[in-house]
Amino acid sequence: MVDSVYDIDLEELKKQGIRGIIADLDNTLVPWRSCEIPCALEDWFCRVRNAGLKIAVVSNNSPSRVAEFSSRLGVTCIAKAVKPRRGAFRRIAADFGFAPQEMAVVGDQLFTDILGGNRSGMYTILVKPLSRHEFVGTKLVRLVERIFLRRLQKRQKQK
Ligand SMILES: [Mg+2]
Repeated sequence: MVDSVYDIDLEELKKQGIRGIIADLDNTLVPWRSCEIPCALEDWFCRVRNAGLKIAVVSNNSPSRVAEFSSRLGVTCIAKAVKPRRGAFRRIAADFGFAPQEMAVVGDQLFTDILGGNRSGMYTILVKPLSRHEFVGTKLVRLVERIFLRRLQKRQKQK
């Protein structure tokens, strides 16, 4: 768990054998519905690539929204990914030619990004959502997420 993608220790990931990153789009890279790409995000993509890591975006959002980011950031994107289903995660790993354990998934939602990544056998990183605005359905899911998160944190403390 980290606050945002900017707090991910890329060198540490590489030490763990990670070679590719799959990032969620909404509320992970950009606020929900935002069409702007902040300079900081472009810089981050450069840092990831300079570190020798491959990166792709996997989103449950519409192809039109996702395509815009794909072309502007020059990154492979999969839209309508139906996370937590594994298909899109596996497709990216296969494209990259990496094993699941060489992939890290970054996202702001436990039941889509993190669950899907874990089910695919990938290393998962949970970030805090960038904005409080989101799809109504997501807001409901957040309530349940909080319960699970609290349990997870308790378990981590006990370790
Ligand atoms: Mg998200």
